[in-house]
Amino acid sequence: MSPAAFPRPDIDDLSAPYWEALGKGHLLYQRCLSCGTAWLPARSQCPGCLGPDIGWVPASGGAKLISWVVYHRAFNPAFEDRVPYNVAVVELDEGPRLISNVVGLDPEQEICAQLHLDQPLRLAIRHEQGVAIPAFLRAPE
Ligand SMILES: [Zn+2]
Repeated sequence: MSPAAFPRPDIDDLSAPYWEALGKGHLLYQRCLSCGTAWLPARSQCPGCLGPDIGWVPASGGAKLISWVVYHRAFNPAFEDRVPYNVAVVELDEGPRLISNVVGLDPEQEICAQLHLDQPLRLAIRHEQGVAIPAFLRAPE
């Protein structure tokens, strides 16, 4: 049996700047030019004021851990060799949240023993199967 296909992001005109910037080593988020609300993922209107004037802004790379789950069975067969792995909600220092992974953990220790709420994180973009993906390393407290 051949290995499962690595899932690919659905990239459209709206999200293309996000994915292109990741490929160049930068994580971008959207900010409303009218009210200043910041968010991810890409939208065509501000979720704060519904305005259409939106800019892309580079994130500093600083973040904190909001929540996480540990998968002991792969959600997608392409990830079977990774279990157990975490899926985390991460809040950028600038406010937007995204679903990501905390990487660089000690495989000899329980994942949950290495993570805690509000844990400082640092962006660590990974390249997998030709796709740049935002992930995060634990940062010094
Ligand atoms: Zn707005």
